[in-house]
This record gives sequence, C-alpha cells and structure tokens, in this order.
Amino acid sequence: MKPSPISPTVDFEAEGVQHGFLRLPHSRDDAAWGSIMIPVTVIRNGEGPTALLTGANHGDEYEGPIALFELARSLRPEEIAGRVIILPSMNHPAFLAGTRTSPIDRGNLNRSFPGRPDGTITEKIADYFQRTLLPMADVVLDFHSGGRTLDFLPFCAAHVLPAKEQEARAFDLVRAFGAPWSVKMLEIDAAGMYDTAAEEMGKVFVTTELGGGGTASARTIRIAARGCRNLLIAAGILQGKPEPQETTWLDMPDGDCFTFAEEAGLIAFLADLGDEVVAGEPIARIYPTGRTGVDPVVLHVRRSGILTARHFPGLVKPGDCVAVVAVKVEG
Ligand code: ZN
Repeated sequence: MKPSPISPTVDFEAEGVQHGFLRLPHSRDDAAWGSIMIPVTVIRNGEGPTALLTGANHGDEYEGPIALFELARSLRPEEIAGRVIILPSMNHPAFLAGTRTSPIDRGNLNRSFPGRPDGTITEKIADYFQRTLLPMADVVLDFHSGGRTLDFLPFCAAHVLPAKEQEARAFDLVRAFGAPWSVKMLEIDAAGMYDTAAEEMGKVFVTTELGGGGTASARTIRIAARGCRNLLIAAGILQGKPEPQETTWLDMPDGDCFTFAEEAGLIAFLADLGDEVVAGEPIARIYPTGRTGVDPVVLHVRRSGILTARHFPGLVKPGDCVAVVAVKVEG
C-alpha cells in the first residue's frame, strides 16, 4: 500500500514533551500548497505502555477535546512511565467547523476505517491512525459525546468481544475511569469504526459518551478529566492515586434498546435521562408541525431499563434515533 501523505512534526520515539502536528497536504482555493495541521502531543519517559488518547473523532463533541487540550499542556514526563500520545481533535476539520462530519468531504471519521492513503481527506486521517498510530498503542481511549443531535447519561464504555481477556482488560479500565455510568455497549452500525479497527488489532479500547447537545457542562468536563487520569493510572502509565468513583453498570443486550422516529415533528419526551422506563410504555409524543387539531404519534420503548440517550433537538425526522434504553446489571 502507498505511504501515508501525513507527516508528523514530532518524533514518536523521543523522550520528553513535544507539541506538534500531523501535517496533511490539502491543496485548495485559499492555499495552493496548503496543509491541514492536526495538533498532537507526545510525552515519553523511558519504557512502559503507550496510551493513545483522542477527542473530536466527531467534531461537535467537546468533553474529550477540553480534557485533552488541558492534559497535553499539563502532563509532565516525570509523572509517567511509558508514552502518552494525545490528539484532542482527531477529525480536525470537523472540529474547527463544529460539525460531526468533515466540511471538506462530509466524511464521518468513525465510519471511515481502515481508510485509504489515496482517498478523501477523512480517509487519509483514518489510514494514518490505522497504520501508524494504533500499532504504537497498548491502550486506546476515544472520547465521544452526543454532539448536536443526541444527549447521553455520562458514561464510559467498552464492547463485548470474542477475545475475553481483551474484553476483561477493557472493562477493568472502564471501571477505573469511574464515570457515573459504565456501559457494555452495543453498536447499531459498527462497520468502519475506529473502535472496531483498534479491537481487531488486539488493542484495549475504551470509549465514552459524556453528554451532548453540542456543548460540554462543568460536570461532564470534570468527569472526562478525572476519568482520563484514572485510566492512565490503571494502565500503569501515570503515577499517583486514582480517584475511584461510584458507577452504575448498564448493558445494551440487543436492538430493542433503540427507538426510532417514523415521522417528522415536534418531539415531547415523557421521561428524562436516568429515568426508569417500562417496556411498552410511551416515551415521547411527536406532534405534526403543519396544522393544529391533529393527534400526536406516540412512541413506545421496547424494553424496560434506564433512559440512557435521547434525541436532543426539539424537532425530529423519520429515522432519527429518539431514545436508547439500557438495562442495569452487576458490574
Ligand atoms: Zn461521537
């Protein structure tokens, strides 16, 4: 396969702290020989495991970038054993635009793996993670939140995997992260995901959903920052005392966890995040927006559990994910 067009301005093998960029050539109207400059920090102190920490895989999710810009400027080599690679804005063009997908090619980075060195801008970024960054990593933490269109209970998550030892190590780190909620996560669309790429390489992969609505709260920022440090300590990289937190475990056993809209309209939720819901109960009403005097369509949940995610904007379209219900389990 062709070499990546991305050139790093940092040396991933060097000791100490380096702040630099992944430079990706992007010829365009306002810069004939221009580049996309994706910020990266590498901190290394001798031998030890490597953690790869990423935010803004989707550009409108903010807890990860906030926690990681802060970590990148504050973490000292003498505090660690091994290496921490930090990319607060993995899909940098999407992050700058404040959108889920890239404004350049509309690429959803988290559906673009394994990527291509000669593909779109987003595919080139994916390819660099696939062939250069992921192989260096032992532990991978990829921060997500709901973005503009979803809102989540703040949780840390890993996937149920065929390789049980790899799965157990991931759930150990989820427990160490210490978000208020911890989830055994089911994906509705796992093809092309960074998660899957990392897991297929045998990496210990942990993700989050820490809120949403296209912003970050003081509470969810604290959860992200504390969780990241706790995870680095549990991975044997960062010295210091973890701050263990109470967490409630949730499972997503199958597709019945998801409720989708079948028509457009104005959505009125009948339960809030964290509420207990019962299978068959109404979860929301969707009012037609064109005229008065019309009954709303009532949406029902298909399983009992905790309302874990919901559509964020007040208007929905057919096919939008309206609600996600997860089931409380023992940790
Ligand atoms: Zn996301």
